[in-house]
Amino acid sequence: EVSNTDLLQQQANRESSARTYPRRFPLAIRHAKGLTVTDMDGKEYIDCLAGAGTLALGHNHNVVTDAIREMIDANVPLHTLDITTATKEAFIDELLVCLPANFSRDARVHFCGPTGADGVEAAIKLAKIATGRSTILSFQGGYHGSTHATMSLSGNLHQKGALEGLVPNVHFMPYPYDYRCPFGLGGRAGEKAGLNFIRSVLGDPESGVTKPAAIILEAVQGEGGAIPAPDDWLKELRQLTLEHDVLLIIDEVQTGFGRTGKLFAFEHSGITPDIVVMSKAVGGGLPLSVIAYHRKYDKWQPGAHIGTFRGNQLAMAAGRNTLRYIRENDLAGHAAAIGQQLASALRNLQTAFPQIGDVRGRGLMLGVEMIEDRTSDIQGYPKADPALARSVQKSCFDRGLILEVGGRHSAVLRFLPPLIISNAEMLKIIDIFSDAIAENCA
Ligand code: PMP
Repeated sequence: EVSNTDLLQQQANRESSARTYPRRFPLAIRHAKGLTVTDMDGKEYIDCLAGAGTLALGHNHNVVTDAIREMIDANVPLHTLDITTATKEAFIDELLVCLPANFSRDARVHFCGPTGADGVEAAIKLAKIATGRSTILSFQGGYHGSTHATMSLSGNLHQKGALEGLVPNVHFMPYPYDYRCPFGLGGRAGEKAGLNFIRSVLGDPESGVTKPAAIILEAVQGEGGAIPAPDDWLKELRQLTLEHDVLLIIDEVQTGFGRTGKLFAFEHSGITPDIVVMSKAVGGGLPLSVIAYHRKYDKWQPGAHIGTFRGNQLAMAAGRNTLRYIRENDLAGHAAAIGQQLASALRNLQTAFPQIGDVRGRGLMLGVEMIEDRTSDIQGYPKADPALARSVQKSCFDRGLILEVGGRHSAVLRFLPPLIISNAEMLKIIDIFSDAIAENCA
């Protein structure tokens, strides 16, 4: 019998030191179904990481495995470059139904390659081509990927530290992170101050920033620590971009397809973006990314953005079934309702334990920010406690719950369970997490 230890040993000897998840989750996975993964030694875990938000339907859902099996049995091509197939057109049909009608009516789609970063790369290139400008505004705490260009757009200096000369002309704007507003103002006042700053960057010729091609953001920051942009704030930002003729790119790689309680996170505010980036859930757990945008921006020259794996046929089949299942079973509504249940349980814990500084998020994308209760950071806010977050994460893991840690200070425990989560599974997650908090914060 091969054990966890055997496989982990092999991995440590042969894989690069860039690997991250295995450091925090020392297991090798034998099989997985729904929310449950089973390791080589037979121990079961509830998976609240779920491929970093990829597995909307959990592991090996029937509609995904059926789609894959049918493709193989029918001998339809698994690889066609970007030559079309019935599989691809059926996928696009479903994708366009998921997008809001006022957006999809005039939309074009472009397949970008297997990863979320591929989608962001394409969106940025398209915005530059369509506007003839090169500056991009991004947001503090944002995450858009690990390639050179997408890392340039991401706020995290820690990841960029070792690299000189990333993509130039990217400027970081303040995200409405109420808990640690850079202006020292909470709530609406802080959000207003941030918008005023962006207004001055766009409108003041003396701002030192040349007119941007686009503003890119997540409507709920994921890796940045489950921070939702308030609806009014996003509406005003959209208004600003329209006034200044700047494209608005919404990165829905993590938030898309029901996770935040609507099919797309930008829908909470009622805005319509110019470009939407989708990956993760869009391929039903298989690698796929795609952007959609208004057809007036379709300024690519043939060959301007190519790639061998622009459109994985298996991922399109799995993705089509997944999106249809999410839509027909209103998993967005389920995420909103059961997410509320988790959020209120987490808020109760916050009342009992001063080390829980903030509980926030939307739908099934929630975060718990751990703080030191006696010290403050350079801006006078409670100091984030990454060591405590790691320790809670470890206690959860030992008890059979896989939870990611993220956030600007690596002190946010992040909940990203599959959208099919049942009530019983939710109660078990709350139980385990409560025990882990009690153990670490008593
Ligand atoms: N954008 C967002 C919002 C993401 O959360 C991620 C991945 N976590 C990416 C882009 C990059 O996706 P990938 O890891 O597939 O390149």
